[in-house]
Amino acid sequence: MSLQENYHNIKSQLPDTVELVAVSKTHPVAAIQEVYDFGQKVFGENKVQELTEKYPQLPKDIQWHLIGHLQTNKVKYIAEYIDTIQSVDSEKLLNEINKEAAKNNRTIKVFLQVKIAEEDSKFGLDISEAENLFQKFISGDFPNIEITGLMGMATFTEDEDQIKKEFSVLKNLFDKLNEKHTLKTLSMGMSDDFPVAIECGANSVRVGSAIFGRRDYSQ
Ligand SMILES: *Cc1c(COP(=O)(O)O)cnc(C)c1O
Repeated sequence: MSLQENYHNIKSQLPDTVELVAVSKTHPVAAIQEVYDFGQKVFGENKVQELTEKYPQLPKDIQWHLIGHLQTNKVKYIAEYIDTIQSVDSEKLLNEINKEAAKNNRTIKVFLQVKIAEEDSKFGLDISEAENLFQKFISGDFPNIEITGLMGMATFTEDEDQIKKEFSVLKNLFDKLNEKHTLKTLSMGMSDDFPVAIECGANSVRVGSAIFGRRDYSQ
């Protein structure tokens, strides 16, 4: 299928209330421009270096989301323009983003990445860590950050019950935190599991290969 068919095929499966983040990592600027021309404005990349190369070559009204693990020493390269950092997994990183956002006289939106997968995943906060950081944010510890959502990845498995169980854990946390301070976005679901994620309450999905095609190497 063509890029256009893929894109419209995915869009047709998303309710109007669900945001699509088109994950363009490893794909060339020309493909991103094409999808932008279909009307897509929100794109996700997982590496600072790749984003830094692509950013100047593409329209300035793209809302870039960083979805991959972010090292504190790289925040400064994207702080001026990044729309949302979905992969915040430590207090140290929150402090650094806050600092760089202040330097740029702006507020940066972030999602807390929460470990929900049963499989060993390196990155992501435990539930209690996420609750603690959210409390600190509400108390005013990070004035140049707005925590607007939660992000999570389910185990890579065919077992749909397992996936549902994991997504539901994040949905419960989302509802709990949302009672303390409004949260807007629950980011769950990728090419293989976004319909299940939506069933479980996701209002934003991160879809890469189902739009752009398979990547040459897995990441
Ligand atoms: C690569 C990636 C995606 C998209 O994965 P696909 O299976 O290609 O849709 C979503 N979220 C994160 C965090 C990713 O790294």
